[in-house]
Amino acid sequence: MIPFNRPHLTDHEIRYIQQAADQGQLAGNGAFTRRCQEWLQHTLGAPHALLTHSCTAALEMSALLLDIAPGDEVIMPSFTFVSTANAFVLRGATPVFVDIRPDTLNLDERLVDAAITPRTRAIVPVHYAGVACEMDALAAVAVRHGLPIVEDAAQGLMSTYRTRPVGSFGRLATISFHETKNVTAGEGGALVINDPALVERAELIWEKGTNRSRFFRGEVDKYTWVDLGSSYLPGEITAAFLWAQLEEAESITRARLALWQRYYDACGPLVEMGVELPTVPGDRQHNAHLFRVLLPESVPQADVLADLKQRGIHALFHYVPLHSSPAGQRFGRAPFPLPVTDSVSRRIVRLPLWLGMRDSDPAFIADQLAQAIATRV
Ligand SMILES: *Cc1c(COP(=O)(O)O)cnc(C)c1O
Repeated sequence: MIPFNRPHLTDHEIRYIQQAADQGQLAGNGAFTRRCQEWLQHTLGAPHALLTHSCTAALEMSALLLDIAPGDEVIMPSFTFVSTANAFVLRGATPVFVDIRPDTLNLDERLVDAAITPRTRAIVPVHYAGVACEMDALAAVAVRHGLPIVEDAAQGLMSTYRTRPVGSFGRLATISFHETKNVTAGEGGALVINDPALVERAELIWEKGTNRSRFFRGEVDKYTWVDLGSSYLPGEITAAFLWAQLEEAESITRARLALWQRYYDACGPLVEMGVELPTVPGDRQHNAHLFRVLLPESVPQADVLADLKQRGIHALFHYVPLHSSPAGQRFGRAPFPLPVTDSVSRRIVRLPLWLGMRDSDPAFIADQLAQAIATRV
């Protein structure tokens, strides 16, 4: 069986964890945390970055930082992971679901304007598959309405849009280091703070609403409860593991891109069967986070996934669109129909892509997929 994902380890995770233990600090905000944060700041050109337990936690911090409150609305795609919405629903806001573009499967920037109301407080684009959203157009809408952008860059580390890194556009951006992402700490994430005015409060929220970070820097002589907050910082074991991965983020991305390209080339013949391949516009570099195809409408997705499983290939679908999920219907709102989201959700097939796969696997899998489709068109 070819698994859908297998986490990639460099040679250094265990050594760095040993170093963290030897240094005698296992709680968060230690030497490895700072190293990871400096790497993120340098790579993204951001004034500040904070490691978190997850991208989910970073999204929750974003909602706190933007003072999202009951009655507020937040615009986002329906075709995304639940955390994008949950973070704002936890503050009492209503996620407003907008359709995606048929090419990149990203939030359709042309539909955002019409979804904005006097209650709108933020726009949350998701860089799906590590392919950047139309950031210039989205920024123009945001500026016109005076709204902040929070980039859900969970899948977007090492991607660019017009040579600028994904995660550097929004007032805030959130990154995931979950096991299924390109660079991983098992569970982990980061909040990228691109607006210097939010840095100080972000640190308070991160450290349980205390000014502990300022205390450690000697800026205040005692530390105390000063704001809303929670425990959003991971321990040094997680940071040490992550540091090994960040050091190799470039070579990890390069190797994934090579596998992605093998898939793309091998899937070429499937286009004649009505299969749609991924689109990466020429003005942006993706990070090969995932390889997906869209089946023809007439070919049942569940049958193809089951057939691939019988052929020893673990392929997956995602997402149940949030606007049609039980919690999405309870907490969210879709002002317009979402035909692209509905269609993509019925047609998408994600194929295994992980470091350690054989170079020949993508062609083999593409061939098996072609056979699974051919019997059904
Ligand atoms: C993975 C993912 C998340 C959640 O990341 P965690 O680190 O697991 O919390 C959020 N949004 C998107 C788009 C994701 O792909």
